[in-house]
Amino acid sequence: MLSSVLIANRGEIAVRIIRTARRMGLRTIAVYSDADAHAMHVRLADEAYPIGPAPARESYLVIDRIIEAARRSGAEAIHPGYGFLSERAEFADACAEAGIVFIGPPANAIRAMGLKDGAKSLMQRAGVPVVPGYHGANQDPKFLKEKAYEIGYPVLIKAVAGGGGKGMKKVEKLVDFDEALASAQREAASSFGDPRVLIEKYVQAPRHIEIQVFGDAQGNVVHLFERDCSLQRRHQKVIEEAPAPAMPPAMREAMGRAAVEAAKAVGYVGAGTVEFIADGSNGLQADKFYFMEMNTRLQVEHPVTEAITGQDLVEWQIRVAAGERLPLLQDELAIHGHAVEARLYAEDPERGFLPSTGRLHTLEFGDGEGVRVDTGVEAGAEVSPFYDPMIAKVIAFGETRDEALDRLGAVLGRTVVAGPRTNLAFLKALTEAPGFRSGAFDTGFIDRNLAALGAVPRAADPATVRLAALKLVDGAWAARQGRDQARSNEAASPWSATDGFQLAAARRVSVPLVVDGERATVELVSPAPGTGRTGSIQAVFGGGTSDYHDDYLPVANDPAFTLTRDGLFVVRDGRQTEVRRFDPFDVDLDHLDGGGAVKAPMHGKVIAVLVEPGQAVAKGDRIAVIEAMKMEHTLVSPADGTVTAIAVTAGEQVAEGAPVATIEARTEQAA
Ligand code: ADP
Repeated sequence: MLSSVLIANRGEIAVRIIRTARRMGLRTIAVYSDADAHAMHVRLADEAYPIGPAPARESYLVIDRIIEAARRSGAEAIHPGYGFLSERAEFADACAEAGIVFIGPPANAIRAMGLKDGAKSLMQRAGVPVVPGYHGANQDPKFLKEKAYEIGYPVLIKAVAGGGGKGMKKVEKLVDFDEALASAQREAASSFGDPRVLIEKYVQAPRHIEIQVFGDAQGNVVHLFERDCSLQRRHQKVIEEAPAPAMPPAMREAMGRAAVEAAKAVGYVGAGTVEFIADGSNGLQADKFYFMEMNTRLQVEHPVTEAITGQDLVEWQIRVAAGERLPLLQDELAIHGHAVEARLYAEDPERGFLPSTGRLHTLEFGDGEGVRVDTGVEAGAEVSPFYDPMIAKVIAFGETRDEALDRLGAVLGRTVVAGPRTNLAFLKALTEAPGFRSGAFDTGFIDRNLAALGAVPRAADPATVRLAALKLVDGAWAARQGRDQARSNEAASPWSATDGFQLAAARRVSVPLVVDGERATVELVSPAPGTGRTGSIQAVFGGGTSDYHDDYLPVANDPAFTLTRDGLFVVRDGRQTEVRRFDPFDVDLDHLDGGGAVKAPMHGKVIAVLVEPGQAVAKGDRIAVIEAMKMEHTLVSPADGTVTAIAVTAGEQVAEGAPVATIEARTEQAA
């Protein structure tokens, strides 16, 4: 058995690997970038080594730094996790050269599966079904267009070197082909440094079903059944489950066999996943699935497989890397129950899933029967702009699919994240969505149901705002009722204003607030003496009234409050509302004169500044482009006007809310 392992990764997967390695008695060694010096994975490991600055390409992606840390610590093996260096054959080679065990497949298996076109040809030769398409060397646009015609529309153009859904374009009809091809090639070149594409038939009602495989150095290969990852947004997985709903046993059998064939064809050792796309237009059928690609690493969603097989896949990886035989062979493996995993992300579904960063003021997961939470952060930590903004994976197991989904929904409902905006409420809505519950879904389900899932701009819930106002005033009001009012040093605060005071009638104070960045005014009313309600306060806002003392919680689910220096977060049913006292000195010109400040919507890097001081702009004109978490966001002018100041330069990092430019609105001349 191995005696020590270095984990060349961070976040939840590093923590997850450390846990199993520990339990098996291995010494665990973490590496960390400057941004992760206080991260959970660093604290949990027996030892930790710094490997460079925050950007991954200067730390987690630098092979030499990782090997150097392994040498210094005397690590016997390296586990790459997923992402980062996990599928880089040069990394496996470098480990071998340094005499370190790479916990992953042989470098040549990674190479064979690395490019989609080569992998497809290889699979075709091994008798594994592949999507009809062209994956040859000829990249002449005219030729590719002919191929698309032969394959038959709709087709999908994919980057040969692709990953993460980048460089993928669905083309519905011939006239759109040229433009889609050019755009796919551009994206492929910029994302992967390789403009080559392949063309595939677009599978109807596509279901993404993948098979977990495992091989050992003795030549045994097994599969651990399927995972259904059809709930996707922009070709990225959101919720995964095992087994696949309505999977015919004959199809499971056929897919499992094809996946084992695929693994054997490349001499696979260790954990791998063979991804298939199934045509679900007439339900799942044993002859309607096609190979897409093989991922030569542990997948993000491996816990659902662990839940239904009762196995620890990281333990399997470590044993196989140590030269042991697979812990179980095919006829010793069986499915029990159902498991679902949700990826909790720091992103805002109500604003186009814009990534969100910042301090996690509160992070609490409700626990419950059959629930597992894999995370690498805790309250007080920052969601930084440098890495994937996943906060946690929440996994629920049940005897049946309904039980697993009920448990997942319940635990998501009890989870509280205050600070960055998250997809918590969106995930919870997914667990309850009728189409998903009934099993009638495909990879387009989320896109077709964005509004029903709450992933559209929505105003803050008025009852939540009233509650927040009452909560904010609580301390100040109590102080004012008491004798220490005179000593309050908050004389300028609206909370201690005495302007609305009336002896015999109701007392009314207007409280200016900022709700999710927008100005709002809540009326606070103290009923007149003699009404029997003296001492209580009511908040009036958005067409309703909430009473502090009588019905403090006028809502179904208990909201969670997190107080911060200048306001509070209310989280109810996974949805976060931020309520701050309005600070008149924090002037947001946006809402005063229609012009004003253009601010960075999140922490990121300025890619381009598209205007100059003095330049006239129209409302909606592009001002600057900011890149955050691998996505580009264009900032536009809020009004017609003139650029009076630019606060950033291209290449600069900016914080969330930082001013980017000032636009002076053009004032209308009286006619
Ligand atoms: P990437 O490597 O960029 O993640 P994949 O080839 O794994 O790309 O495909 C990602 C997703 O795109 C799949 O999960 C599926 O939803 C969709 N997809 C891929 N190929 C097809 C196809 N031929 N027809 C329909 N959808 C597809």
